[in-house]
Amino acid sequence: MEQADCLFCRIVAQKNPAGVVLETPTTLALRDINPQAPVHVLVIPKEHIGSISALEPRHAELVSQIHETIKAVARSEKVESNGYRVVVNNGRDADQTVRHLHYHVLGGRRMSWPPG
Ligand code: 5GP
Ligand code: ZN
Repeated sequence: MEQADCLFCRIVAQKNPAGVVLETPTTLALRDINPQAPVHVLVIPKEHIGSISALEPRHAELVSQIHETIKAVARSEKVESNGYRVVVNNGRDADQTVRHLHYHVLGGRRMSWPPG
């Protein structure tokens, strides 16, 4: 269910603009407004789910669909062969700022490890 005060719910509802890269019936891929790599796309479920911690067994199919969208983004952004990083920040210590589950898809440059 849409949450009125949630930025990504507002983007899903087309009340806020976003650079949509790809849309499926259950997911949306959009360009991050503050990219950290040449390719920085956010993949989100259209359903409001706060974080990984809020996922339930009933979301199993949706989680699979999110991964299919990530793969499709990697193909369309041409980072599939060189590789890419998928990051989900969860909660305070990970610096999650938007409380609507989102997967960062980062690529187009060599990533370092460990992450910051
Ligand atoms: P987090 O820190 O929660 O893991 O990531 C939130 C991400 O959302 C950040 O990378 C930030 O740049 C991005 N972001 C914040 N506001 C907007 C917005 O209005 N539109 C888009 N496309 N991305 C946003
Ligand atoms: Zn939301």
